[in-house]
Amino acid sequence: MQTKMIIDSHTHIPTADYTGGNQFFQDAAPAVAYLRATGTQAALFTTWRGVLGTTEDDLNTGNEAALALARESAGFLYPGCVIHPFFPETSLKWLARFRDLGWQWVGELLPACPFADARFMRLFESCAKHGQVVQLHNTADVKVVAAQFPEMPVVCAHIPEEAECRQLAALPNVWMDVSGNNGGLKLGGMESARDTLGPDRLLYGTDFTGYEPRAFMARLTMAFPAPADQEKIYHRNIVRLLAQVRSKPII
Ligand SMILES: [Zn+2]
Repeated sequence: MQTKMIIDSHTHIPTADYTGGNQFFQDAAPAVAYLRATGTQAALFTTWRGVLGTTEDDLNTGNEAALALARESAGFLYPGCVIHPFFPETSLKWLARFRDLGWQWVGELLPACPFADARFMRLFESCAKHGQVVQLHNTADVKVVAAQFPEMPVVCAHIPEEAECRQLAALPNVWMDVSGNNGGLKLGGMESARDTLGPDRLLYGTDFTGYEPRAFMARLTMAFPAPADQEKIYHRNIVRLLAQVRSKPII
């Protein structure tokens, strides 16, 4: 039997020093073991502390832990850089540090203020200038950011409603990961993404440790019965996207 190559483009890893996020696991090791047991071969991630953090200390500690986890994982974990609009200088420093190490992925980011706010846009301008990918939690502003920086790939995290998918699809630099209630769980979510963006700009993502990865695998199989489309979404598209921004490869 052929083994599928599965890369998860949207995960968050817990750390023992932080109680935010999904607490099903209290530390990284059991979470990573669980993810591996689902048949996943690699994952892009932020720490929960990085993505949910509200202080400069959270930003620093969350990013530092992400780099350490990536180093220790021997290629399984690819770290996304977290930035925060209230700490611009520290964020710019982290963007540079991740870039220097070859990691060109930024996010998932949550809207601490609207993504279209000048404080976020200044940081995105730096990402665009340096050829980084930005993964944004889906809000109406994802379109604004993508339109403002047409050369920068913007990954919409989670599948929004179909009308929003259609508007996002009109922007050629927008990609989408299939995580979220409307992505892996609600019947019709992946079908909306398929019918609007098509299989070439979709990335397999689960929002683990918030969700069960196998739920998304089951839905993906139903919405994309063609093995060639599944291969694109499970790994070919993310490999292509990372190559496009000259990132260190994920696997
Ligand atoms: Zn997430």
